[in-house]
Amino acid sequence: MSQSLAPTVPEIDDEASARQDEIARLKQEVFLLETLMDNSPDSIYFKDLNSRFTRINRYAAARFGVGEPALAVGRTDFDYFTDEHAAQAFRDEQEIICTGQPLVNVEEKETKPDGGVLWVSTTKMPLRDSAGNIVGTFGISRDITQRKQFEDQLEHQAFFDTLTQLPNRALFMNRLQHLFHRAQRAQGDLLFAVLYLDVDRFKGVNDGLGHQAGDDLLVEIARRLERCVRPSDTLARLGGDEFTILLEDIASEVDATRIADRIQKELSVPFSVHGQEVFSSASLGIALSSSHYQRPEDMLRDSDIAMYRAKASGRSRHQVFDVDMHQRAVSLLRLETDLRRAIERREFVPYYQPIIDLETRRLRGFEALARWLHPTRGLVMPDVFIPVAEETGLIGPLGDFMLVEACRQMRKWQRQYARDPALCISVNVSTRQLAQSDVAEQVRRVLLETGLDPACLTLEITESALMQNLKSGADVIQRLHDMAVRLHIDDFGTGYSSLSYLHNFPVHTLKVDKSFVSRMEDAPNQAEIVKAIVSLAQNLGMEVTAEGVETNAQADALQDLHCTNAQGFLFSRPLPAAEAERLIVDGLPPY
Ligand code: C2E
Ligand code: MG
Ligand code: MG
Repeated sequence: MSQSLAPTVPEIDDEASARQDEIARLKQEVFLLETLMDNSPDSIYFKDLNSRFTRINRYAAARFGVGEPALAVGRTDFDYFTDEHAAQAFRDEQEIICTGQPLVNVEEKETKPDGGVLWVSTTKMPLRDSAGNIVGTFGISRDITQRKQFEDQLEHQAFFDTLTQLPNRALFMNRLQHLFHRAQRAQGDLLFAVLYLDVDRFKGVNDGLGHQAGDDLLVEIARRLERCVRPSDTLARLGGDEFTILLEDIASEVDATRIADRIQKELSVPFSVHGQEVFSSASLGIALSSSHYQRPEDMLRDSDIAMYRAKASGRSRHQVFDVDMHQRAVSLLRLETDLRRAIERREFVPYYQPIIDLETRRLRGFEALARWLHPTRGLVMPDVFIPVAEETGLIGPLGDFMLVEACRQMRKWQRQYARDPALCISVNVSTRQLAQSDVAEQVRRVLLETGLDPACLTLEITESALMQNLKSGADVIQRLHDMAVRLHIDDFGTGYSSLSYLHNFPVHTLKVDKSFVSRMEDAPNQAEIVKAIVSLAQNLGMEVTAEGVETNAQADALQDLHCTNAQGFLFSRPLPAAEAERLIVDGLPPY
């Protein structure tokens, strides 16, 4: 029996059908791949060894702006992108072809000839034939434009102020740091400056017109500041009403002060905020790189210190930092620390200065004035510590102490030495206390605790403190008035208020500032001013107390003007309680 090796017919049939199956399977595979490619949300493309497209998917066709994927075959990136972008892609692909190494997740910006920009993350691989030879490349690019925009936005938020769109502190410090590096390389040949700007009385706008108006004003100020600096300078908002400017590469200090002048001039033009005309000004501090700073923070700190000096010396001005200021700042810091301790250790004492009825020359009462018995510095006067206490908030507990002590002392004297009319006590209220609306409540509590008749308590508010806190001040004053507590306007004539304004407040007495009284004799127009204040006050139904009366001539002249009361060294200096008590008992010494 012979065995045939030739396939039998059924076997041939099997082979044909197996091939057909295989073809069908391959077709199905191709179909799946094409479906996958054409529905992919990424661009997919194949290129030959010369970086010509051999195949692209629908998404890529849409991105390239060709209707059908087939139309891209034989073309290159130069047909669809800028030359620069296309050239880079070509170089990348030739590198892949040479080395066989893929490029994975490279983020690139695609710029179309029409200027459109797209961010993509691209992976490109070598394309091999079945024998393993590289025959081209293929790539997948994913559109990451949205993510990039989001990242940009986050970066913007990290480095820019959202209200004014100016650089923020982080970016400012970053630029300053860079400038320090540049200056080091330049070995002292590079001069630059930091300007620190604080808007004067910004709180008044916020309190008076509302926060929205405050915000609008800040934006307006930012726009004006932009006009004062060069494009190479960095203008930043540090926060609140504080701005900084980094002046790069200036020739001398004069360049910095000239810009400060320009800023002040620019800000002096009134702003229009919510239909209201708002006047603004700023205090500026300047630190120059010539001071050999080691750290950017030190330079910023000194510009801040200089700004404080500018503000303290009367606002709306600028000041260049010098070493003395640093010393002062350090001693101020020490003062602040001491002050905190002083309150805990009860190192404050009230002194009492008599207030005299000019007609009868009798004692009407006292003004309580704070003194600090410092363990090493001795007696410290209020003009040294009150401003620091104000700034640090320590005026709260200090003011509270003075109020309690003065009321308690006066009640005690009234009990011991009954008089008709009863003696009164005046207590000073600071700007900051007035801004805190609980002052009235605090007074009510102290009167209750000490048992002092409210009509015997006078609160002295300086004219400027009142002008700075018109809104909250009006409320506090009304409440005090309702309690029958009297209000005196202190240092009158120094705070630029108009009497018509004061007329709106239940003011009992104007205290004419001592600067007018002291000049009464040597300048006739000063006497005229005092005369005008007295007669205006009388017309408004107010009394007048003259402060700082030092000579008999002044006292007599004031009496002739019908000024109600007087206070001054002529009668007595401020005294400790025990000595003041002797005046109640023995009467005033002859003068
Ligand atoms: P002030 O309320 O205007 O007080 C009058 C100041 O003038 C006192 O200065 C007083 O000693 C001084 N003085 C009185 N008579 C004469 C005089 O004939 N000639 C001269 N040259 N000066 C005279 P003092 O005690 O140094 O207080 C200064 C300022 O400190 C006060 O001005 C007041 O604004 C503030 N102050 C004092 N004690 C307190 C307090 O307890 N609380 C608050 N918030 N401020 C206070
Ligand atoms: Mg006073
Ligand atoms: Mg005064």
